[in-house]
Amino acid sequence: MAHRITEECISCAACEAECPEGAISEGEDTFVIDPELCTDCGSCVEVCPVDAIVAE
Ligand code: SF4
Repeated sequence: MAHRITEECISCAACEAECPEGAISEGEDTFVIDPELCTDCGSCVEVCPVDAIVAE
């Protein structure tokens, strides 16, 4: 399992620096989490201003 960024994302980039695994990067329409790198630590969830990051 991994965390996922939904379409609510406004591409503020706040979460990118929070990820200890470097799993978050800017995608085409939203920022994206690489499920291969995500360890479900949840660090990104805290900083998202629009609650766009969900645990799957
Ligand atoms: Fe998108 Fe939230 Fe990350 Fe900002 S913190 S880039 S709104 S997922």
